[in-house]
Amino acid sequence: MLIYLMPGGCRPLFFLLAVVLPLVSPHTRNHREQQKHSEKERPKLLLVSFDGFRWDYIYRVPTPNFRSIMDEGVKVEFVENVYITKTYPNHYSMVTGLYAETHGIVANEMYDPALNLSFSMETDSVYDSRWWEQAVPLWVTIQKDGGRSGAAMWPGSDVLIHGMFPSRYLLYNASVSFETRVRRIIEWFSAPEGEAVDFGILYWEEPDESGHNLGPQSPLMDAIIAGIDEKLGFLMNELKKAGLYEKVNLIVTSDHGMEQLSPEKIIELDQYVDRDLYTWVDKSPVVGILPKEGKLDEVYGKLSDANPNMAVYRKDDIPEHFHYQHNIRIMPILLEAKEGWTIMQNLTGLSMLGNHGYNNTLRNMQPVFVARGPAFRQNYVKTSMRSVDLYPLMCHILGIRPLPNNGSLLNVQDLLSLEPTTSTPTSTHTTVPPKVGRFSYAPVVGSFIGVVMVIGFLVVYVITVTLKQRPALKLRSWEMSQPLLQEDLHL
Ligand code: AMP
Ligand code: ZN
Ligand code: ZN
Repeated sequence: MLIYLMPGGCRPLFFLLAVVLPLVSPHTRNHREQQKHSEKERPKLLLVSFDGFRWDYIYRVPTPNFRSIMDEGVKVEFVENVYITKTYPNHYSMVTGLYAETHGIVANEMYDPALNLSFSMETDSVYDSRWWEQAVPLWVTIQKDGGRSGAAMWPGSDVLIHGMFPSRYLLYNASVSFETRVRRIIEWFSAPEGEAVDFGILYWEEPDESGHNLGPQSPLMDAIIAGIDEKLGFLMNELKKAGLYEKVNLIVTSDHGMEQLSPEKIIELDQYVDRDLYTWVDKSPVVGILPKEGKLDEVYGKLSDANPNMAVYRKDDIPEHFHYQHNIRIMPILLEAKEGWTIMQNLTGLSMLGNHGYNNTLRNMQPVFVARGPAFRQNYVKTSMRSVDLYPLMCHILGIRPLPNNGSLLNVQDLLSLEPTTSTPTSTHTTVPPKVGRFSYAPVVGSFIGVVMVIGFLVVYVITVTLKQRPALKLRSWEMSQPLLQEDLHL
């Protein structure tokens, strides 16, 4: 539009500045190259969770594949996960950097009084977006940033969240083998430019299932752990075969550990309070109790000192360091069993020999953590981190601006390689910085031609315009020098 308001003589100059100059400007060229570069070179990251892989399983039997990741990369000894140490809350914390009270997936089984809905990982309620939308998972954020993600059965990844699914994903189906999940992830990472995923998440149900069935102390668990190491080896081999092993940053972790249960360690609620007075919302070992209308004080009174192996909290008294209070989905009374104890309503027999969900500061509730790849240091052991720190770490590696979260990059930045990688220097950047390349003469030549063209054009333009408009200029200057007369104003 502006161009039509310009005097005719100015139009060629406008075109020169708007069209020709950008083509030769070194700055613009660099910018465009950078953009192309960052699209092509967006760092790759694969996050793998072996459900219920306790931190010390790697020491129990030979685990050569975990060991080789540790030697080539990093390992964290103490990972404090989030309360409660169950699958759904912890998997959502890993991809949001939020405690459960903030992301809203506070348990595997929940009740939301505002929605008047119940959630259970065993029903289709998991597909109701409303449960998930108190937070934004990383796959949504990276896609909004122009990146792509691929999810093989990560909890929540087959649910529409804030209007998005991962760019590639598998519907949850426990009978799909680990190997199939890996092959799909590898395909997604290997897709042609523009279609390949940048961020992958891979979930596997073991050793959690065996840990529940056998109990973590069972000698039979040795073979299960060795089997997980073999699965990790399979993944590493497939990455190598696809030429991805040196490119993809690989993080292998878990949601929680596992504790041995005992039929002697049962807390039977029916002994203390009539079950008609409350609704039992979540399962042992941290049980959400919703008292019937007007029965809060009575239920609390009956349970508060009932059993020395069970802590009983009114919602307002839940210790702050649990970060498990400020959400409508957290019930008015919370029961927490001591490690190894099981809360039941009555003695129907213990259906499992191992469980988790206990306090996240307990060592046996904590998961394994190893990682390798271009972003990570080599052969480095870190003492401790919190699982919410994983989110800012992953955002940094992927060059994504993190959303507000409970983690801190500062806590984990020593895991990162000191070598320049394709990641951003700080996690607040949204784009990948340019790599330092070899010196090239092209920008210098481009600039020179550009400058010569501008000067040449300006000279021609000034001469032409000056000659053409001389009489008009003369007239105008004459008019301006005449004093305005009263009658010219037509007052
Ligand atoms: P937990 O009882 O906390 O150990 O939960 C582990 C179980 O969660 C697994 O054995 C699966 O049966 C279930 N699970 C994990 N991911 C999903 C999912 N995406 N959809 C439904 N169930 C899942
Ligand atoms: Zn789990
Ligand atoms: Zn479990």
